[in-house]
Order: sequence, then structure tokens, then C-alpha cells
Amino acid sequence: MSPTKDYALLCLENPLLDIQAQGNEALLEKYGLKANDAILAEEKHLGIYEDLLNNYSAKLIAGGGAQNTARGAQYLLPPNSTVFLGGVGDDKYAAILHDAVKQAGLRVEYRVDKKEKTGRCGVVITGHDRSMCTDLGAANHYDIEHLKSPEVWKLVEGATHYFVGGYHLTVCPPAIQALAEEAAKNNKVFVFSLSAPFISQFFKDPLDASAPYWDYVIGNETEALAYAESHGLETKDIKEIAKHLAALPKANSKRDRVAIITQGTLPTVVAEKGEITEYPVHAIEKSMINDTTGAGDAFAGGFTAGLVAGVPLAQCIDQGQWLAKLSIQELGPS
Ligand code: ADP
Ligand code: MG
Ligand code: MG
Repeated sequence: MSPTKDYALLCLENPLLDIQAQGNEALLEKYGLKANDAILAEEKHLGIYEDLLNNYSAKLIAGGGAQNTARGAQYLLPPNSTVFLGGVGDDKYAAILHDAVKQAGLRVEYRVDKKEKTGRCGVVITGHDRSMCTDLGAANHYDIEHLKSPEVWKLVEGATHYFVGGYHLTVCPPAIQALAEEAAKNNKVFVFSLSAPFISQFFKDPLDASAPYWDYVIGNETEALAYAESHGLETKDIKEIAKHLAALPKANSKRDRVAIITQGTLPTVVAEKGEITEYPVHAIEKSMINDTTGAGDAFAGGFTAGLVAGVPLAQCIDQGQWLAKLSIQELGPS
């Protein structure tokens, strides 16, 4: 891949530790969880983390959607290409995250909160389903002051590409807007992930405020459908939704927006300038699949690395699918 600037890619979202285990119906019922979902933890959910660790031999895995994407992108890019921002606590969970990102060669600039715990994401696997329940903890205290601090803002100014995970809309929209405006002002590339259906459902206003700045918007089929429903689009057709996303008003008119919707094993739908292109996924034998958690994050990592390296769009998609395929053969979003 062609040489790139140091820290060309800057990513922002919530660094989390995944506490992942095989669960069962009884566990889902105990905490009122759906088999296939992503939610923010309420008071009644907080016992699940210890429960998973003590009673379901849970594994601790470095997680957080965009942090996984950043690790994935760094994996494909030259050393010192990617930096990740987010909030953590001052605890053993943060130490595990530091180890994992170091192994991946990912630089992190965490805002460290002395009072709050590092965020945790309980992942309950039942069959092919996974239910995620996140207690954001210190990640929820990320603030614009950290982003605007001289050392961090220097990294912002130095980067040519920004990747923001939609999950951060629940935390610090002002930081997202600051990056978005910086991108538009300087004709840099702003990549945004829709992250989960609940973002479109419950964080519509900050989502819509960021939308004009998206140069690339990435989501999966359920996120696309949730967007359509929450925005009153009278269609459940993924291609129509992708076209709609690509055609939303745009702040930086020097770049056309591209909307990318992945659909698990079904072709990836790409909308650009009113046209749809479909890219079949890289087939993989069922027996080779270990864990599809984070397939979408890995896809976004491979895709964004392609953008940073300046390769054509079709190759960016291919790289995303390649990295996703690699990731689902490992445990957790590796
Ligand atoms: P998410 O993890 O956000 O739900 P998807 O399920 O759409 O995202 O997966 C993203 C990408 O990962 C797909 O476009 C595809 O390239 C790859 N992928 C996911 N599941 C499989 C699979 N079973 N076999 C091959 N590739 C897969
Ligand atoms: Mg999926
Ligand atoms: Mg996803």
C-alpha cells in the first residue's frame, strides 16, 4: 500500500471492554434482553457483568465498535497511521485495553476519568444471536475539552481522514460536530457509522445534525431499516434507503456522498450519485465461522484503510469484506 502520513486516520467513539459468553434463554429473560440487540444498560442490567464472569466463564475482549474499526484499519496500514480517541477509567479494564491496542499498533489518546469505571459491554451469545448490553461508564464522560486540548487537536489537524462511530452520539455530539466541521472546512474525509438501530430511533436529532458532514456512511441492513422507519421513509428496500442516505443534503459539496449498507452474507449495497452497485461478499464455509461479532466493524476498518491509502472505491469495499471475513474466523472482534 502507498505510504501515508503519520496518523492520517483519527477515530472517535467509546472504548469498551467486551465481557462475552455463551448464554441461554434464562439469562436473557433474567435481564429482559432480546436475543439479537444492542442497548444501553439500565439499573436492572448492571448485575449482568459479574453474572457473566462468575457463572458463564465469560471472556474479556477489547471492544467498542470504532476502536475495533481503528485496530482493523491500522492492521492494513503502515505503522503509526491510526489514532483513536475516547474515554476510559483508571482501572484494570483500561489496562487490558491498552495492552490490546498496543499489540495492534494502534495509538490511543484516552480521556482518563478518575471516578468512573471503564465502559463494559456484556455480550450474550445464544446460537447465531448476540445480545449486547453496554454500561458506558467513563466512555460517557468524554468531552470536547479533551478533543480541543492542544496535543489532541494537533492530531486532529494532522489527520486527513476521520472515522466517527454513531454510538458516540449518545456521549458527546459537540466533539462529533467539531470533527465534522473541521473535515468540511478543509475538504478532509469524514466517515460515519450508523452503529445500531437504537441510534436512529432515539438519537435522531444529533444524528441528523451530523448527516450533512458524512462523506461515507456505513451501516448494516437493520440499521438502514431503523433509519428509514425513524425518518418516515416509506420503504423497506435497502437500495432505496441507501440512495436516500447518499442524497441527503451535504455540507462539503466538493465530495459526493457514498452510502454503504452491508447485509451479512448478502451483497453489500453501495449508493453513489443516484446509482446502486452491489458487491457480493467473500463466501466462507460455515464451519470456518467462529464468531460474527464485529464483522461490520472489521468491514469498516478494511474499507476505511482503503480510503486512507487512496485506492478505488471497489477495492475499498473488497478490502472491507476481506477483513470482515478474516475477523469472523476469530473469537471476538479480532
Ligand atoms: P454487522 O456486524 O454490523 O451486522 P454485517 O453482518 O452486515 O455487519 O457484516 C459485515 C460484512 O462482514 C459483510 O458485508 C461481509 O463482508 C462480512 N460477513 C458477515 N458475515 C459473513 C459470513 N457469514 N460470511 C462471509 N462474510 C461475512
Ligand atoms: Mg449483521
Ligand atoms: Mg455493526
